[in-house]
Amino acid sequence: MEIGVLALQGAFIEHEMMLEKLGVSVREIRQKKDLDSQLDGLIIPGGESTVMGKLLVDLDLVDSLNEKIGKGLPAFGTCAGLILLAKEVDGKPGLLGTMNISAKRNAYGRQSGSFVATEVFAYKRSVLMTFIRAPYIESVDHSVEILARVDGNIVAARENNILVTAFHPELDGDTFVHEYFLDIVKKYIESQKNEA
Ligand code: GLN
Repeated sequence: MEIGVLALQGAFIEHEMMLEKLGVSVREIRQKKDLDSQLDGLIIPGGESTVMGKLLVDLDLVDSLNEKIGKGLPAFGTCAGLILLAKEVDGKPGLLGTMNISAKRNAYGRQSGSFVATEVFAYKRSVLMTFIRAPYIESVDHSVEILARVDGNIVAARENNILVTAFHPELDGDTFVHEYFLDIVKKYIESQKNEA
């Protein structure tokens, strides 16, 4: 199994450390040719979605990523990654737009927007959730499964092989959410084998 981590800007090293802790090979995605060989999943980290989005456009990565995610490549977006994957952001089209959710950027206010909460993730167990100038999900299509809420707002969701969290599970040393993503990846690898 090899997971690509978009390494243009933001908290990508923390995701790499999580994956390494779980014994998974990591490939940093910095340019188009990094997508040439087979990948089993992709993480889009937190950071600043406008900056990361501009780099994705400048490096001509948008179409290649959309094609792969559209064909079922598992993708996990945290915070800015959620914003980039959302079909709609603050009423406008999102950049990658591969997931049928509407996101609200800086939903908790710009300055006072950093906090932690503990809530149940995916009906399984409680997880510490760190929010940093985070978005939340305002609405989802029927195809989207809601995985966590904080104060009634949706902060984690899944649609087929796409997982998003408004919080930063890579910062808290708990590998639970990454393991959840790797389960999606394992099922994807199995389904690829069955197709072959
Ligand atoms: N506020 C940032 C944005 O809009 C996201 C913050 C984060 O990723 N921690 O892109």
